[in-house]
Amino acid sequence: MGKYSIVIHGGAGTILKSDMTPQLEEAYVRGLEEAVLAGKNILEKGGDALDAIQDAIRTLEDNLLFNAGRGSVFTKKGVQEMDAAIMDGKTLKAGAITGVRNVRNPIQLAYEVMAESNHVFLSGKGANDFAIKRGLKLEPDDYFFSQFRYDQWKEIRDSDTYSLDHTHQDLNELMKDKKFGTVGAVALDMHGNIAAATSTGGMTNKKYGRIGDSPVIGAGTYANNNTCGISCTGHGELFIRSVAAYDVSALMEYKGLSLEEAMNEVVHKKLVSIQGAGGMIGVDAEGNTAMVFNTAGMYRAMMNHKGEKIFGIYRENYPI
Ligand code: ASP
Repeated sequence: MGKYSIVIHGGAGTILKSDMTPQLEEAYVRGLEEAVLAGKNILEKGGDALDAIQDAIRTLEDNLLFNAGRGSVFTKKGVQEMDAAIMDGKTLKAGAITGVRNVRNPIQLAYEVMAESNHVFLSGKGANDFAIKRGLKLEPDDYFFSQFRYDQWKEIRDSDTYSLDHTHQDLNELMKDKKFGTVGAVALDMHGNIAAATSTGGMTNKKYGRIGDSPVIGAGTYANNNTCGISCTGHGELFIRSVAAYDVSALMEYKGLSLEEAMNEVVHKKLVSIQGAGGMIGVDAEGNTAMVFNTAGMYRAMMNHKGEKIFGIYRENYPI
C-alpha cells in the first residue's frame, strides 16, 4: 500500500481545559474525527489529496462549532464574510476567495477558481457571481447564524477589541473567547501529491474589508510536492507579514530543514518575534506530519497509512 497522510486543524487560540465542559470537548473531538475520517476514506482508496482535503474541510464548514462556512464569525457590520484557499502541490495551481457571503462551502468555490477560471484570487461580489455561475449551493444568512458567534460579536461590536475575558457558563459563553476557529486540511496521497486548504470566517468584528492570511497563498496556505503542504491558523496579519506557510517550504527547500524543524522555526521563532499567535499543520513528501502552535491550544487531528491517529485540543495530544 502506498503512503498517505492527512492532517487537519480547527483553529488555534486560548483553548484551555478549564474553560471546557466534557460535553463541548466531546463535540469538538467528534467534529475533528468526522473531518479527518472523510479525508482518510478517500486517501486509503487511492483517491486524490485535493479531494480528501475538500471533503475534510466541507464537514468542518458544515459544523457550527468551527469558524468557517456555517458558524462563521460576524464582521463589524454584523454579517458573515468568508475566505478560503486551496493549493495543488503537483501543479502549483491555486484558487482563493475572500469576502464571500452565502456560499455554503467556500472551499468548493476556491477549488472552482483554481480549476475553472484563469485566475487565482477572487473577492466579494465578483467571487459571489462566479459561485452563481458555477452553480454552487447558496444558503440564506440564517443558515450561517450561530448564537455564540453573534453574542461574541455583540460584546465587542462598538469597540476595536478582539480579546474578551469572561466567566464561562454554557456553550454560548464558552465559545465567546475562541477568536481563532479557522479550519484547514493538508494531505499527501498515494500518488505522491500534496494539497493544502484553509477556510475561515476571519476575525470577529473585522472591518474595512479586512482579509487575513487564510486565503493568501504563501501566508496561510501553501503546497508543493517537492517540499510540503501547510495550512495556518492564528492572528492573520502576523502570518501575512511572515509569509508563514511559504517560509516553511523555503526553509525545507533552501536550507534542508525537516518539516518539523521548519515549522518550529516559523511558529516558535519568527512568529513569536513579532507576537504572532497561532499555529499550523503540515505534511511532507514522505508523509511525515506536524502540528505546531504557540498558543494554549489548537484543534487538530492526523491519520495515515500506518494506522496512526493523533487528536489534540490542548498542548498534550488527546488520549484515544
Ligand atoms: N487566520 C485567520 C484570520 O486571521 C483567523 C483564524 O485562524 O482563526 O483571518
